[in-house]
Amino acid sequence: MSGIAENLGIIRRRIDEAARRAGRDPAGIRLIAVSKTHSAEQVREAIAAGQCVFGENRVQEAGAKFADLRAEYPALELHLIGSLQTNKAEDAVRHFDVIQTLDRKSLADALSKAIRKTGRTPRLYIEINIGEEPQKAGLTPADLPSFLDYCRERGLKAEGLMCIPPLGQNPEGFFRHMKEMADRFGLTHLSMGMSGDFETAIVCDATEIRVGTAIFGERVK
Ligand SMILES: *Cc1c(COP(=O)(O)O)cnc(C)c1O
Repeated sequence: MSGIAENLGIIRRRIDEAARRAGRDPAGIRLIAVSKTHSAEQVREAIAAGQCVFGENRVQEAGAKFADLRAEYPALELHLIGSLQTNKAEDAVRHFDVIQTLDRKSLADALSKAIRKTGRTPRLYIEINIGEEPQKAGLTPADLPSFLDYCRERGLKAEGLMCIPPLGQNPEGFFRHMKEMADRFGLTHLSMGMSGDFETAIVCDATEIRVGTAIFGERVK
């Protein structure tokens, strides 16, 4: 058994256990395998172990890595989880099924244009800077209501929220705040929790967790 298959088995068991502890159905939690910096061969190992949802943070890297894989495995689902430049919006719309990092008006404009041009309609989530950290991407919670209006006026339907809580702090309060916002605005997808904190995210009602290191090992810079 390869390390990746083994790691996936361990993560799936931990998801089941966390769900059970939280009184949730594990089927309501999707595991996104974050394959950024890892090779197409490693992605293949994960696919062989039954994984079909992947996350990447760069449009170009994902396009190159997944072109053949997508043709071979039409059921693959690819999520963009890294920040997106407006000039790459069209490529992102072509390559990804879900874009989790919608966080500003200029990007909403660019995505709206790209969607009309390509006829592709990836699912869109809004990234929230839940710790309101100056160096981080994402909308502040206070800006969410007016941003949702802005998107709606441009024909964009946001269906979820995503966040990366501040490093080195207990994430639970941030995750709970995310859940409240998702409920308040009727956003059904809640993407939160990574290798170090996905069990806490599950307790706080995450519907998608994004796990890289615990599946593929440390990333080489
Ligand atoms: C890299 C990354 C992850 C995965 O992080 P790990 O700690 O390796 O599990 C999750 N979400 C985002 C947005 C990332 O950039």
